[in-house]
Amino acid sequence: MDILGKPVQHIKGVGPKKTKLLNKIDIKTVEDLLYYFPRSYEDRREIKKISTLQNGEKANLKVVIYSNPKVNRPRRNMSIVKMIAKDETGIIYLSWFNQNYIVNQLKLGDIIYISGKVKKIGTNIEIQNPVYEKIKDSGRKTGRIIPIYQLTEGISNNELTKIIEYTLLTYYIEFKDIIPKNIIDELKLISFGEAIKNIHFPADRLSYIKSKERLVFEELLILQMGLLILRGKTSSNNNGIKFSKDDNIDEIVKSLPYKLTNAQKRVFEEISKDMESSKQMNRLVQGDVGSGKTIIAIFAMMKAYKSGYQSAMMAPTEILAVQHYESVIRVLSRYNIRCELLVSNISAKKKSEILRKVEAGEVDIIVGTHALIQEKVKFYNLGLTITDEQHRFGVRQRATLSMKGNNSDILVMTATPIPRTLALILYGDLDVSIIDELPAGRKKIKTYAITSEMKERAYGFIREQINKGRQAYIVCPLVDESTNIDAQSATQLYELLREKYFSEFRLGLLHGQMKSTEKDYIMSEFKNGKIDILVSTTVIEVGVNVANANIMMIENSERFGLAQLHQLRGRVGRGEYQSYCILVNESKSRTSKERMSIMEQTNDGFLISEKDLEIRGPGQFFGTKQHGIPELKIANLLTDINALKIAQKIAIHILKEDPNLISEENKMLKKKIINLFNREFDLISFN
Ligand code: ADP
Ligand code: MG
Repeated sequence: MDILGKPVQHIKGVGPKKTKLLNKIDIKTVEDLLYYFPRSYEDRREIKKISTLQNGEKANLKVVIYSNPKVNRPRRNMSIVKMIAKDETGIIYLSWFNQNYIVNQLKLGDIIYISGKVKKIGTNIEIQNPVYEKIKDSGRKTGRIIPIYQLTEGISNNELTKIIEYTLLTYYIEFKDIIPKNIIDELKLISFGEAIKNIHFPADRLSYIKSKERLVFEELLILQMGLLILRGKTSSNNNGIKFSKDDNIDEIVKSLPYKLTNAQKRVFEEISKDMESSKQMNRLVQGDVGSGKTIIAIFAMMKAYKSGYQSAMMAPTEILAVQHYESVIRVLSRYNIRCELLVSNISAKKKSEILRKVEAGEVDIIVGTHALIQEKVKFYNLGLTITDEQHRFGVRQRATLSMKGNNSDILVMTATPIPRTLALILYGDLDVSIIDELPAGRKKIKTYAITSEMKERAYGFIREQINKGRQAYIVCPLVDESTNIDAQSATQLYELLREKYFSEFRLGLLHGQMKSTEKDYIMSEFKNGKIDILVSTTVIEVGVNVANANIMMIENSERFGLAQLHQLRGRVGRGEYQSYCILVNESKSRTSKERMSIMEQTNDGFLISEKDLEIRGPGQFFGTKQHGIPELKIANLLTDINALKIAQKIAIHILKEDPNLISEENKMLKKKIINLFNREFDLISFN
């Protein structure tokens, strides 16, 4: 086994205790250690002269110790080691707090490098707790660019630096390039060894830039190749289904109770063109909440039906699947289209009957949840797959659905505006259509950010609206999506509101820990006007339509991302009534006030997501695993867009030549890809 794959304990000086600590910061193998990049650097190359020092600056000095070190004990539990040092231009006072041992390490006449923050008190110049090194072992902490690592308790920056430097020096010749040589040459990249050495210990700015360039490219290449493989797009595909032109759509359009927006028409034209061509469609439809994506999906399924193919539409929640199913039935009922709903919550008998019919070609359109991607679901001739609110699904799940067909056309729909860079990463060669227009006559949702002192007034306002016949959503604080604490907090709020504030109304409770039958029951009660106020966690976030609900109140809104707040707000404003969104902001921080005011000012989802990105920075924005892509260590999806494009091109090229990465030169790449995506890969065949 090569050195990189070995456990970190293999490195000299890393015992069981250190190993545990390193594991805590996700350093398990030697490779992890080398890829643990510095968070920042400190330039300690320049040696200053004492006479030029400014108060507050960080400086490196080369000095001789000019007095015998002394220990003062001003208080119990406190000791100060003091000494005087000088260079040819002046005198400096050095002191260390609670580090007695220094007395034994430094003595009069020693020449040392020191580094620290300068303090000028009157004419005295002082450095407290400087980092020091004797001339003979210099070079580690001073006199060069020092890496600064993100640490965990129990390991100092110096220790980690030492371990990494030792590893680099000892094993340098064993480091091999994972990127094929011809690509390295073509892109004029530096070698892996050089890059990894210089990213930790850059000799200068240029070598830092070069090594970063190399490592960013490597990371993006692996990411891109992994995503391409996951999507099953290792070869370019020109043998998709050619669907025929279809006149029925116009008829359906005429039958709708509203007129299509121009954006809807344009997007459907784009989809039609794709479907009629022999190239496999691979299109993302982006449209803000309420922009009317569902009807577009229905048109596409109608088109597939007319050409004799089955369609599948997958939604992230059961509530949503049911809603889509009902829409399909409503719009297409007079065309004898056979449509079924597949969710986990139906009897085994019914389910196996549906599965049989789908496989036998006795169903034309199937709408469902994740249940659709189970292995036992087999199609007769699946020609079109649609994934709604795709951001709720992983890359793999989407791919699994489309692989149930044979080059079936793919449509994904989302209300989450994705910045261009991320779209490029996630979908690569996906075409994008944007519905950038809301249906006419929609009233702008009025949004107000309030503090918790104003909550009672807000409840009063809700009461008024309900008395006028409207309904309201009250969303509870987001605690932690992975636990049932959310459910608890929702239950508490529900009890409080029911007993104290809204005892005269009918309240409903909805959270993720409930059985889907219960959830559906509550949701349908709300839809049918049998519930006035729905207290809920974020499970209502996506897609549900209740036109009579006109208030969305969100507790602790500061805990939500802006995009998420926008999604939640999109649950109202779907009917004829003026709608309101009340954001309870418990935080006094400036950022959170700024974020709330963006929500107050605009209803434009794209603008909101851009602003969110600006305020929170790419780390947090992209960090979420919800997109199903691994965390990046060095590349920045916002700023490394050019590298990303190059990586994408090269990834496609490599996979075209060697789809299973079996050639000798691609072997290491393959290993890296499998490592990075191990969670995703276990379910698809790539070996
Ligand atoms: P989303 O894009 O958020 O999925 P939907 O497809 O659920 O939006 O549509 C929201 C509501 O708007 C639905 O009730 C739908 O019937 C209605 N709708 C769709 N298109 C139009 C239109 N052009 N004019 C008026 N209402 C429309
Ligand atoms: Mg929708």
